[in-house]
Amino acid sequence: MSDCIFCKIANREIPSDLVYEDDVIAAFHDLEPQAPVHVLIVPKKHIESLDDVDFEDMEAMGWLMKKVKDIAKDLGLENGYRLVCNTGEDGMQTVKHLHFHLLGRRKMTWPPG
Ligand code: AMP
Ligand code: ZN
Repeated sequence: MSDCIFCKIANREIPSDLVYEDDVIAAFHDLEPQAPVHVLIVPKKHIESLDDVDFEDMEAMGWLMKKVKDIAKDLGLENGYRLVCNTGEDGMQTVKHLHFHLLGRRKMTWPPG
């Protein structure tokens, strides 16, 4: 999608602090980190949110989930991490391109705010 910031990052039209990419997904550091490690993992295909994942996205979504632990390991998150997917208005999703926040290197709290 032409006016989507995460599509632009995934297509390398605008710079980001990329930590991983392949044909299907990209992972880059969040601009406003909420933990010592805060990376966003996105499918390269524009999918607006979890609400919009379709059958045709199953392979990409499975691949993304499989890569989470590899990206976490590369970032030194051996002690654990949190994966967050804010969805829709109540979920406080601000960027309308599906993304997973990978947060780590600090003890998280529960319940989240
Ligand atoms: P959410 O509120 O779940 O939609 O999260 C959007 C996230 O994207 C926020 O944590 C922002 O800090 C982050 N963000 C927005 N623009 C950029 C960008 N250009 N590069 C990296 N992170 C970004
Ligand atoms: Zn997009």
